[in-house]
Amino acid sequence: MSNTPRTPGDDDDDYYIDEEELAASTYVPAEPDLQLEVFDAVRGEGGTPVNPVRLDAEDTFRFRCHKGVSCWNQCCHGADITLTPYDILRLSKHFEVRPAQFLAEYTVPATFDKSNLPVAKLKMGGTDGKGACAFVTDDGCSVYAARPATCRYYPLGVVSMKMKDAESKEDFNFIVTEPHCKGHDEDQVQNVGAYKAEQQVTDNERVDRGWIDILMKMASWSTMGGPMGKAPSLATRKMFFMATADVDAFRNFVLNTRFLESYEIAPEAVDIIKTDDEALLLLGYDWLKAVLFNEPTLTLKEHVLQQAIAKARTEMGAA
Ligand code: SF4
Ligand code: SF4
Repeated sequence: MSNTPRTPGDDDDDYYIDEEELAASTYVPAEPDLQLEVFDAVRGEGGTPVNPVRLDAEDTFRFRCHKGVSCWNQCCHGADITLTPYDILRLSKHFEVRPAQFLAEYTVPATFDKSNLPVAKLKMGGTDGKGACAFVTDDGCSVYAARPATCRYYPLGVVSMKMKDAESKEDFNFIVTEPHCKGHDEDQVQNVGAYKAEQQVTDNERVDRGWIDILMKMASWSTMGGPMGKAPSLATRKMFFMATADVDAFRNFVLNTRFLESYEIAPEAVDIIKTDDEALLLLGYDWLKAVLFNEPTLTLKEHVLQQAIAKARTEMGAA
Protein backbone atom coordinates (compact mmCIF):
# COMPACT_ATOMS: atom_id res chain seq x y z
CA MET A 1 0.00 0.00 0.00
CA SER A 2 1.28 3.47 -0.78
CA ASN A 3 0.55 6.73 0.97
CA THR A 4 -1.61 9.48 -0.47
CA PRO A 5 -2.39 12.98 0.87
CA ARG A 6 -5.22 13.25 3.39
CA THR A 7 -8.04 15.45 2.16
CA PRO A 8 -10.14 16.87 5.04
CA GLY A 9 -9.91 20.63 5.16
CA ASP A 10 -8.91 21.03 1.54
CA ASP A 11 -10.67 23.63 -0.56
CA ASP A 12 -14.10 22.37 -1.65
CA ASP A 13 -13.47 23.62 -5.20
CA ASP A 14 -10.93 20.82 -5.58
CA TYR A 15 -13.81 18.37 -5.48
CA TYR A 16 -16.03 19.95 -8.08
CA ILE A 17 -16.53 17.80 -11.15
CA ASP A 18 -17.49 20.10 -13.98
CA GLU A 19 -19.88 19.46 -16.83
CA GLU A 20 -17.00 18.61 -19.16
CA GLU A 21 -16.02 15.68 -16.98
CA LEU A 22 -19.65 14.63 -16.68
CA ALA A 23 -20.02 14.62 -20.46
CA ALA A 24 -16.74 12.76 -20.90
CA SER A 25 -17.90 10.09 -18.48
CA THR A 26 -20.44 8.78 -20.99
CA TYR A 27 -17.80 6.32 -22.19
CA VAL A 28 -18.42 3.06 -20.38
CA PRO A 29 -16.02 0.24 -21.21
CA ALA A 30 -16.93 -3.38 -20.70
CA GLU A 31 -15.84 -4.88 -17.40
CA PRO A 32 -13.65 -7.94 -17.35
CA ASP A 33 -14.29 -10.76 -14.91
CA LEU A 34 -13.25 -9.49 -11.57
CA GLN A 35 -12.54 -10.77 -8.12
CA LEU A 36 -11.68 -8.33 -5.37
CA GLU A 37 -10.52 -9.25 -1.89
CA VAL A 38 -12.24 -6.66 0.24
CA PHE A 39 -11.08 -7.71 3.68
CA ASP A 40 -8.14 -10.03 3.31
CA ALA A 41 -7.97 -10.65 7.06
CA VAL A 42 -4.21 -11.03 7.07
CA ARG A 43 -3.25 -9.30 10.25
CA GLY A 44 0.20 -10.65 11.00
CA GLU A 45 3.53 -10.86 9.26
CA GLY A 46 4.90 -13.25 6.73
CA GLY A 47 3.43 -14.79 3.63
CA THR A 48 -0.17 -14.93 2.60
CA PRO A 49 -1.68 -17.78 4.58
CA VAL A 50 -4.95 -17.58 2.71
CA ASN A 51 -6.70 -20.88 2.25
CA PRO A 52 -7.99 -20.50 -1.32
CA VAL A 53 -11.19 -22.39 -0.67
CA ARG A 54 -14.50 -20.66 -1.18
CA LEU A 55 -16.69 -20.76 1.91
CA ASP A 56 -20.43 -20.18 1.77
CA ALA A 57 -22.76 -19.49 4.70
CA GLU A 58 -23.32 -23.13 5.59
CA ASP A 59 -19.66 -24.17 5.39
CA THR A 60 -17.96 -24.81 8.72
CA PHE A 61 -14.57 -23.96 10.16
CA ARG A 62 -12.81 -24.56 13.45
CA PHE A 63 -11.92 -21.45 15.42
CA ARG A 64 -12.38 -19.76 18.77
CA CYS A 65 -10.75 -16.64 20.15
CA HIS A 66 -10.73 -16.02 23.90
CA LYS A 67 -8.50 -14.56 26.57
CA GLY A 68 -7.05 -17.97 27.43
CA VAL A 69 -5.28 -18.48 24.09
CA SER A 70 -1.48 -18.23 24.18
CA CYS A 71 -1.55 -15.72 21.31
CA TRP A 72 -3.98 -13.34 23.04
CA ASN A 73 -3.78 -9.87 21.42
CA GLN A 74 -0.95 -10.79 19.04
CA CYS A 75 -3.16 -10.04 16.05
CA CYS A 76 -3.77 -6.51 17.34
CA HIS A 77 -0.14 -5.54 16.67
CA GLY A 78 1.05 -4.45 13.26
CA ALA A 79 -2.40 -5.21 11.85
CA ASP A 80 -3.25 -4.06 8.33
CA ILE A 81 -6.80 -2.75 8.74
CA THR A 82 -8.54 -0.73 6.06
CA LEU A 83 -11.48 1.13 7.55
CA THR A 84 -14.75 1.10 5.67
CA PRO A 85 -17.01 4.18 5.54
CA TYR A 86 -19.26 2.61 8.17
CA ASP A 87 -16.28 1.73 10.39
CA ILE A 88 -15.28 5.41 10.37
CA LEU A 89 -18.78 6.56 11.31
CA ARG A 90 -19.15 3.96 14.07
CA LEU A 91 -15.73 4.59 15.61
CA SER A 92 -16.22 8.37 15.45
CA LYS A 93 -19.51 7.95 17.25
CA HIS A 94 -17.84 5.73 19.82
CA PHE A 95 -15.32 8.48 20.60
CA GLU A 96 -17.97 11.21 20.31
CA VAL A 97 -15.95 13.09 17.70
CA ARG A 98 -16.63 13.92 14.08
CA PRO A 99 -14.98 11.72 11.39
CA ALA A 100 -12.34 14.32 10.41
CA GLN A 101 -11.05 14.35 13.99
CA PHE A 102 -11.13 10.58 14.26
CA LEU A 103 -9.27 10.23 10.96
CA ALA A 104 -6.59 12.71 12.01
CA GLU A 105 -6.02 11.00 15.34
CA TYR A 106 -6.28 7.29 14.65
CA THR A 107 -5.65 6.60 10.97
CA VAL A 108 -3.00 6.79 8.27
CA PRO A 109 -3.77 7.54 4.64
CA ALA A 110 -3.34 4.71 2.18
CA THR A 111 -4.35 3.61 -1.28
CA PHE A 112 -6.57 0.63 -1.99
CA ASP A 113 -4.08 -0.97 -4.34
CA LYS A 114 -6.19 -2.47 -7.05
CA SER A 115 -8.46 0.55 -7.48
CA ASN A 116 -5.89 3.30 -6.87
CA LEU A 117 -8.39 5.11 -4.64
CA PRO A 118 -7.63 6.59 -1.20
CA VAL A 119 -8.69 4.88 2.00
CA ALA A 120 -7.88 5.23 5.69
CA LYS A 121 -6.06 2.54 7.64
CA LEU A 122 -6.02 2.11 11.37
CA LYS A 123 -2.79 3.54 12.76
CA MET A 124 -0.57 0.99 14.52
CA GLY A 125 2.02 1.92 17.13
CA GLY A 126 5.77 2.17 16.65
CA THR A 127 7.75 4.06 14.06
CA ASP A 128 7.46 1.08 11.71
CA GLY A 129 3.72 0.59 12.25
CA LYS A 130 4.36 -2.87 13.73
CA GLY A 131 3.37 -1.90 17.26
CA ALA A 132 0.09 -2.19 19.09
CA CYS A 133 -3.25 -0.93 17.88
CA ALA A 134 -4.21 2.14 19.90
CA PHE A 135 -7.31 0.30 21.11
CA VAL A 136 -5.81 -2.92 22.43
CA THR A 137 -5.74 -3.55 26.21
CA ASP A 138 -4.82 -6.56 28.34
CA ASP A 139 -8.48 -7.48 28.30
CA GLY A 140 -8.76 -7.26 24.54
CA CYS A 141 -10.27 -4.65 22.28
CA SER A 142 -11.36 -1.49 24.10
CA VAL A 143 -13.65 -0.50 21.20
CA TYR A 144 -15.11 -3.98 20.79
CA ALA A 145 -18.69 -2.84 20.08
CA ALA A 146 -17.37 -0.41 17.45
CA ARG A 147 -14.46 -2.49 16.13
CA PRO A 148 -13.76 -2.38 12.38
CA ALA A 149 -15.20 -4.85 9.92
CA THR A 150 -11.82 -6.53 9.34
CA CYS A 151 -11.57 -7.31 13.07
CA ARG A 152 -15.14 -8.64 13.08
CA TYR A 153 -14.61 -10.96 10.14
CA TYR A 154 -11.24 -12.32 11.27
CA PRO A 155 -10.16 -15.05 10.51
CA LEU A 156 -12.51 -14.82 7.56
CA GLY A 157 -11.74 -12.77 4.49
CA VAL A 158 -14.33 -11.46 2.07
CA VAL A 159 -14.26 -11.71 -1.69
CA SER A 160 -16.62 -9.79 -3.92
CA MET A 161 -16.77 -11.20 -7.40
CA LYS A 162 -18.49 -10.34 -10.65
CA MET A 163 -18.21 -12.34 -13.82
CA LYS A 164 -18.38 -10.42 -17.08
CA ASP A 165 -21.74 -11.78 -18.13
CA ALA A 166 -23.29 -12.05 -14.68
CA GLU A 167 -26.15 -9.75 -13.68
CA SER A 168 -24.90 -9.10 -10.18
CA LYS A 169 -21.99 -9.41 -7.85
CA GLU A 170 -21.45 -12.35 -5.59
CA ASP A 171 -19.77 -12.33 -2.19
CA PHE A 172 -18.18 -15.25 -0.43
CA ASN A 173 -15.65 -15.87 2.32
CA PHE A 174 -12.37 -17.65 2.73
CA ILE A 175 -10.32 -18.47 5.78
CA VAL A 176 -6.90 -17.19 6.73
CA THR A 177 -4.72 -19.36 8.96
CA GLU A 178 -1.85 -17.24 10.15
CA PRO A 179 0.76 -19.27 12.06
CA HIS A 180 0.61 -17.05 15.17
CA CYS A 181 -3.15 -17.48 15.57
CA LYS A 182 -3.88 -20.42 17.86
CA GLY A 183 -7.63 -19.93 17.61
CA HIS A 184 -7.62 -22.55 14.86
CA ASP A 185 -6.46 -25.20 17.36
CA GLU A 186 -9.55 -24.73 19.55
CA ASP A 187 -12.39 -27.24 19.46
CA GLN A 188 -15.20 -24.90 18.51
CA VAL A 189 -16.69 -25.51 15.08
CA GLN A 190 -19.20 -23.11 13.55
CA ASN A 191 -20.57 -22.29 10.17
CA VAL A 192 -19.72 -19.07 8.35
CA GLY A 193 -23.26 -17.69 8.57
CA ALA A 194 -23.47 -18.19 12.33
CA TYR A 195 -20.01 -16.67 12.85
CA LYS A 196 -20.90 -13.57 10.84
CA ALA A 197 -24.17 -13.20 12.77
CA GLU A 198 -22.29 -13.43 16.06
CA GLN A 199 -19.78 -10.81 14.88
CA GLN A 200 -22.62 -8.48 13.80
CA VAL A 201 -21.36 -7.56 10.36
CA THR A 202 -24.83 -6.76 8.97
CA ASP A 203 -24.55 -2.98 9.36
CA ASN A 204 -21.22 -2.99 7.55
CA GLU A 205 -22.63 -5.13 4.77
CA ARG A 206 -25.63 -2.79 4.41
CA VAL A 207 -23.83 0.56 4.49
CA ASP A 208 -20.51 -0.36 2.87
CA ARG A 209 -21.93 -2.12 -0.21
CA GLY A 210 -21.78 1.00 -2.40
CA TRP A 211 -18.18 1.65 -1.37
CA ILE A 212 -17.20 -1.90 -2.26
CA ASP A 213 -19.01 -1.58 -5.61
CA ILE A 214 -17.01 1.55 -6.48
CA LEU A 215 -13.68 0.00 -5.42
CA MET A 216 -14.51 -3.04 -7.51
CA LYS A 217 -15.48 -1.13 -10.57
CA MET A 218 -12.44 1.12 -10.41
CA ALA A 219 -10.23 -1.95 -9.91
CA SER A 220 -11.88 -3.50 -12.91
CA TRP A 221 -11.24 -0.45 -15.04
CA SER A 222 -7.68 -0.13 -13.81
CA THR A 223 -6.91 -3.37 -15.63
CA MET A 224 -7.73 -1.36 -18.76
CA GLY A 225 -5.86 1.75 -17.65
CA GLY A 226 -8.73 3.36 -15.69
CA PRO A 227 -11.91 5.15 -16.74
CA MET A 228 -11.40 6.64 -20.17
CA GLY A 229 -8.00 4.96 -20.17
CA LYS A 230 -6.70 7.17 -17.36
CA ALA A 231 -5.81 6.47 -13.75
CA PRO A 232 -8.06 8.33 -11.26
CA SER A 233 -7.02 11.99 -11.17
CA LEU A 234 -6.09 13.78 -7.95
CA ALA A 235 -9.53 15.48 -8.02
CA THR A 236 -11.23 12.09 -8.39
CA ARG A 237 -9.23 10.64 -5.53
CA LYS A 238 -10.09 13.62 -3.34
CA MET A 239 -13.78 13.49 -4.07
CA PHE A 240 -13.81 9.73 -3.39
CA PHE A 241 -12.19 10.22 -0.01
CA MET A 242 -14.43 13.15 0.89
CA ALA A 243 -17.63 11.28 0.04
CA THR A 244 -16.65 7.99 1.67
CA ALA A 245 -14.64 9.06 4.72
CA ASP A 246 -15.35 12.65 5.72
CA VAL A 247 -19.11 13.07 5.78
CA ASP A 248 -18.96 16.62 7.16
CA ALA A 249 -16.83 17.81 4.24
CA PHE A 250 -19.20 16.07 1.84
CA ARG A 251 -22.26 17.57 3.57
CA ASN A 252 -20.70 21.01 3.23
CA PHE A 253 -20.02 20.29 -0.43
CA VAL A 254 -23.60 19.15 -1.09
CA LEU A 255 -25.27 22.00 0.74
CA ASN A 256 -22.94 24.89 -0.09
CA THR A 257 -21.85 24.41 -3.71
CA ARG A 258 -23.79 24.05 -6.98
CA PHE A 259 -24.51 20.38 -6.16
CA LEU A 260 -28.22 20.87 -5.45
CA GLU A 261 -28.56 23.13 -8.50
CA SER A 262 -27.03 20.38 -10.64
CA TYR A 263 -28.85 17.23 -9.47
CA GLU A 264 -32.50 16.35 -8.91
CA ILE A 265 -32.63 15.62 -5.18
CA ALA A 266 -36.03 15.53 -3.44
CA PRO A 267 -36.45 18.27 -0.79
CA GLU A 268 -37.25 15.60 1.83
CA ALA A 269 -33.96 13.89 1.01
CA VAL A 270 -32.09 17.16 1.37
CA ASP A 271 -33.61 17.55 4.85
CA ILE A 272 -32.54 14.03 5.81
CA ILE A 273 -28.92 14.38 4.71
CA LYS A 274 -28.54 17.54 6.80
CA THR A 275 -28.34 15.32 9.88
CA ASP A 276 -28.18 11.67 8.81
CA ASP A 277 -24.61 10.52 8.14
CA GLU A 278 -25.54 7.11 6.77
CA ALA A 279 -27.99 8.64 4.28
CA LEU A 280 -25.26 11.05 3.23
CA LEU A 281 -22.87 8.15 2.59
CA LEU A 282 -25.49 6.53 0.36
CA LEU A 283 -25.91 9.80 -1.55
CA GLY A 284 -22.12 9.97 -1.87
CA TYR A 285 -21.99 6.51 -3.44
CA ASP A 286 -24.73 7.49 -5.90
CA TRP A 287 -22.87 10.66 -6.80
CA LEU A 288 -19.56 8.85 -7.30
CA LYS A 289 -21.20 6.16 -9.44
CA ALA A 290 -22.89 8.82 -11.58
CA VAL A 291 -19.76 10.93 -12.05
CA LEU A 292 -17.16 8.18 -12.34
CA PHE A 293 -19.08 5.51 -14.21
CA ASN A 294 -22.06 7.29 -15.73
CA GLU A 295 -24.46 5.05 -13.81
CA PRO A 296 -28.04 6.33 -13.62
CA THR A 297 -27.88 6.78 -9.85
CA LEU A 298 -28.45 10.56 -9.84
CA THR A 299 -30.32 12.67 -12.36
CA LEU A 300 -28.76 15.85 -13.65
CA LYS A 301 -31.14 18.79 -13.84
CA GLU A 302 -32.18 19.53 -17.41
CA HIS A 303 -30.25 22.80 -17.82
CA VAL A 304 -27.03 21.19 -16.57
CA LEU A 305 -27.52 18.24 -18.87
CA GLN A 306 -28.07 20.52 -21.87
CA GLN A 307 -24.94 22.51 -21.03
CA ALA A 308 -22.90 19.33 -20.74
CA ILE A 309 -24.19 17.99 -24.04
CA ALA A 310 -23.55 21.30 -25.83
CA LYS A 311 -20.04 21.47 -24.46
CA ALA A 312 -19.26 17.90 -25.47
CA ARG A 313 -20.60 18.54 -28.98
CA THR A 314 -18.51 21.67 -29.33
CA GLU A 315 -15.41 19.78 -28.34
CA MET A 316 -16.14 17.00 -30.80
CA GLY A 317 -16.55 19.64 -33.53
CA ALA A 318 -20.20 18.73 -34.01
CA ALA A 319 -21.73 22.07 -33.03
S1 SF4 B 1 -9.62 -2.41 16.69
FE1 SF4 B 1 -9.68 -3.81 18.40
S2 SF4 B 1 -9.73 -5.87 17.46
FE2 SF4 B 1 -9.09 -4.42 15.88
S3 SF4 B 1 -6.84 -4.45 15.91
FE3 SF4 B 1 -7.50 -2.78 17.27
S4 SF4 B 1 -7.65 -3.67 19.32
FE4 SF4 B 1 -7.56 -5.36 17.84
S1 SF4 C 1 -6.68 -16.54 18.62
FE1 SF4 C 1 -6.19 -15.46 16.74
S2 SF4 C 1 -7.70 -13.82 16.74
FE2 SF4 C 1 -7.60 -14.59 18.86
S3 SF4 C 1 -6.06 -13.36 19.91
FE3 SF4 C 1 -5.00 -15.12 19.07
S4 SF4 C 1 -4.22 -14.38 17.10
FE4 SF4 C 1 -5.84 -13.00 17.71
